[in-house]
Amino acid sequence: MVVNETDEGPGFADLALGPELLKALNGLGYEEPTPIQREAIPPLLEGRDLLGQAATGTGKTAAFALPMLQRLHAGRHPVAMENGGGEPAGLVLVPTRELAIQVSEAMHRYGRDLGTRVLPIYGGQPIGRQLRALERGVDVVVATPGRALDHIGRGTLPLKGLRMVVLDEADEMLDMGFADDIEAILQDTPEDRQTVLFSATMPPRIDGIARRHLREPVRIRIEREAPAAGEAPLIRQSAYIVSRAYKPAALGRVLDVEAPTAAIVFCRTREEVDSLTETMNGRGYRAEALHGGMGQEQRDRVMGRLRSGTADLLVATDVAARGLDIEQLTHVINYDVPSAPESYVHRIGRVGRAGREGVAITLAEPREHRMLKTIERVTRSKIAVEKVPTVADLRARRLELTRAALQESLMEDGDLDRFRVVVETLADEFDLVDIALAAVKLAHESTGAAADEEEIPEVTPRPQRAERGGPRDDRFARDDRRGRRGGGAMSRVFVGAGRSAGVRPQDIVGAITGETHVSGREIGAIEIADRFTLVEIPDAAVDEVVAALRRTTIKGRKPIVRRDRDGAPRGRR
Ligand code: AMP
Repeated sequence: MVVNETDEGPGFADLALGPELLKALNGLGYEEPTPIQREAIPPLLEGRDLLGQAATGTGKTAAFALPMLQRLHAGRHPVAMENGGGEPAGLVLVPTRELAIQVSEAMHRYGRDLGTRVLPIYGGQPIGRQLRALERGVDVVVATPGRALDHIGRGTLPLKGLRMVVLDEADEMLDMGFADDIEAILQDTPEDRQTVLFSATMPPRIDGIARRHLREPVRIRIEREAPAAGEAPLIRQSAYIVSRAYKPAALGRVLDVEAPTAAIVFCRTREEVDSLTETMNGRGYRAEALHGGMGQEQRDRVMGRLRSGTADLLVATDVAARGLDIEQLTHVINYDVPSAPESYVHRIGRVGRAGREGVAITLAEPREHRMLKTIERVTRSKIAVEKVPTVADLRARRLELTRAALQESLMEDGDLDRFRVVVETLADEFDLVDIALAAVKLAHESTGAAADEEEIPEVTPRPQRAERGGPRDDRFARDDRRGRRGGGAMSRVFVGAGRSAGVRPQDIVGAITGETHVSGREIGAIEIADRFTLVEIPDAAVDEVVAALRRTTIKGRKPIVRRDRDGAPRGRR
């Protein structure tokens, strides 16, 4: 089955989800299911197996989590609930510690009113804590395969009560050498379980797993031929890769450099719309929010302000912006990568009309890079990944605007004469060029051009499967990962200082580029947690980086620095 997005598809309420889940989704500001959710949720609720091709950013987590929560809740054993004990009925296998945490947090949020107990287990976390939590009883375990197998070996993760198993990002798990672990785990689960497999790519090895372990699965992928190319509007398309923490700053930077007449910024949820609108107003932009939670009168007021030019930035969800036609719109900005190629096409089609060039800009997180590639392929268009404008670019652009304003003023040669007396009296004492320079400075500063001088760190996207050489077996995957530098194989370095120590991405980038041969471009995603930081480094440079960071101080400290083992291929854990 190929997902087919139409403008008015079914809402969450049409998908037979229970009231508790609907309430949670409403509270999170989700306005409508993404295409993958629309297709996956009904068959999963019926108990079917499912094979889904979907990358991060499509909403795949909720696509399996919502049916899982509903089905497990419906079949939950009342005695186990009362005693607080009970064996897990759901198991989600994921490739990395981050994803384990992310998926279990999402499930916890969705399942709050159902009282579902979700536990992430992954390598690197003390096993004792996990043992105690498992003993108390959980409903769903979200685990990396290696650590799951450890627990199964100890007899602390019983599999016989499992009713649903999900393999998330299966291709990533295979790339990381988890194939045998996955097979071993699945062998031990009950035969009549429901099985879901999501993978961004579908190489033959994934097909093999699906054939062995899935029963007549429903197949879903979110690729569909793009609309007829002949009608394609004139649109300059580009993307910036930025980490989440820098998105508001990056949006501001892009708006300053692009200077749109009017722009629409698309967000995924109502909550995101509200908070981004507030942030952008705080940064001095005239932004208005538009989402499905607003009444008609409110919406009319917002549109009025946009049309009259009192506002120049509309921050909206897809649902709210549907059917809007704004004449003066020059820019569409995707604050996140859209959940399907069709919604990308819908969004950007709002500019580039009537022969005028429009601009579409996407802010993507490193992990969403694959979705960007899918959109490019399906829409058969090129989305140029560009460097986020630097502070220097911004200054140059602002000077250019000041220069253009002065040029305009000179060409209009209106009533400049009344200022002659100022220049002439100063000329007795100063050089004419110096006087002009001082005047330009004043004019420039009066535009408020001093704000937002924060440098936004450049991040490289996660390496693509193809770039890694498409490993064919686990051993090859490991060798490939060890061997290359700059060719895409990345490993992570753990630094024992994070947000609470004031660490910012630029501190990490500065320390690495200052002390090693690694350039800023080679550094991958940087994740800063409260107490630690994880940074992706070309695998071949990890030892050099670890040694160098151990010698230097970061924010005046000498934190623990080591290769992060959770994401490493098995055999070295
Ligand atoms: P995923 O592809 O599962 O990693 O999800 C990507 C992001 O989309 C997450 O931040 C989700 O919270 C968000 N999301 C998932 N489904 C929806 C939806 N139906 N509406 C709005 N946001 C969503």
